[in-house]
Amino acid sequence: MTRSGRHFLQIPGPTNVPDRVLRAMDFPTIDHRGPDFARLTHEVLAALKPVFQTRGSVVIFPSSGTGACEAAMANTLSPGDRVLIMETGWFSHIAWRHQAEKLGLQVEYAPGTWRRGAAPEGVEERLRADTAQAIKAVIVVHNETSTGVTSRIGDVRRAMNNARHPALLIVDTISSLASIDYRHDEWEVDVTVAGSQKGLMLPPGLGFNAISEKALAASKTAKMPRSYWDWDGILKNNAAGFFPYTPATNLLYGLREALTMLDDEGMSNVFRRHQRHSEATRAAVRAWGLEIVCEDPREYSGSLTAIFMPEGHDADRLRNLILEKFDMSLGTGLGKLAGKAFRIGHLGSFNDLMLAGTLAGVEMGLRLAGVPHKAGGLTAALDVLSAPVGEPVMS
Ligand code: PLP
Repeated sequence: MTRSGRHFLQIPGPTNVPDRVLRAMDFPTIDHRGPDFARLTHEVLAALKPVFQTRGSVVIFPSSGTGACEAAMANTLSPGDRVLIMETGWFSHIAWRHQAEKLGLQVEYAPGTWRRGAAPEGVEERLRADTAQAIKAVIVVHNETSTGVTSRIGDVRRAMNNARHPALLIVDTISSLASIDYRHDEWEVDVTVAGSQKGLMLPPGLGFNAISEKALAASKTAKMPRSYWDWDGILKNNAAGFFPYTPATNLLYGLREALTMLDDEGMSNVFRRHQRHSEATRAAVRAWGLEIVCEDPREYSGSLTAIFMPEGHDADRLRNLILEKFDMSLGTGLGKLAGKAFRIGHLGSFNDLMLAGTLAGVEMGLRLAGVPHKAGGLTAALDVLSAPVGEPVMS
């Protein structure tokens, strides 16, 4: 069915792809073994570093985020290795626990409520108890996309250092990179995992690993079978501007443009924009009298807000009605939140009026679906959005 105007894609990724990025991809595919391609590779690999806040290597896979999760484990671990995965929600389960078990790792899954981030004190306690240092990696999802809760990675790192434990720190930033402040080097993260389809404003199809020296050293002895994901071949080829296989050329054109846009805006402004939009969204939710899934204000996500439905009201019914009436897609409840919660994505290429439109659509949907709520959520959000903001920081 053709609808007039633009669809509102307000799921927490894939996100809206800016016209500039779409146009940048609308070019002939070039020889991926030629000089123009080598220049493109060098450009994007250099421009990715400030986004990960690293001086180290970043590798790009033609893959979804899940592939990049597998790559992080396959390159650094050996079959039978023990890993500590912090339960934060659906993605700590499906992208990490499930995959790690399939890869033959021994998973210790530290239980969580899905309403709070990974507890740094829990990490410290577990690592202190591991006197044999059997745990080879701690795995944390930075921004749990199923709940809108952001774990405090700097504090997790401090906890690991306090415990004086040598485990690697692997962090999933699939829904936080280029939206929420994230510091690969400062937080001594060993492998940072990301994908193209969220803060980077691209279509799905690229996966990323940022790699510390310690992770690179671990990859020299790690025995997990790997071929496609093997960092070694990619890093060697990348040095000359190439890939060991056919790369996703046109997505890389898009990546170059998206990285230019992020640099033009300045990363600190990008983070502030996301933070402001998340504040305005929470103001709306509170005014509606609905409950935010995230319990700890220190862990509110800048990229999405997950909201509980009142008892006896189905989240998917609300979402379907909003899709049908207002042509807007909202995120479904995942795993144990299915039917109980919905998610508003406010990440990527997004501005104040898009958020106002999004929240107007939710408010009208709540009314039409007969969901008990108070009016005035949109107005509360507009109050946040129209409050004076500081001058943008020049990059
Ligand atoms: N981890 C997180 C936090 C995610 O949000 C997602 C997807 O949304 C994944 C892993 C899996 O990534 P993909 O669906 O691109 O394979």
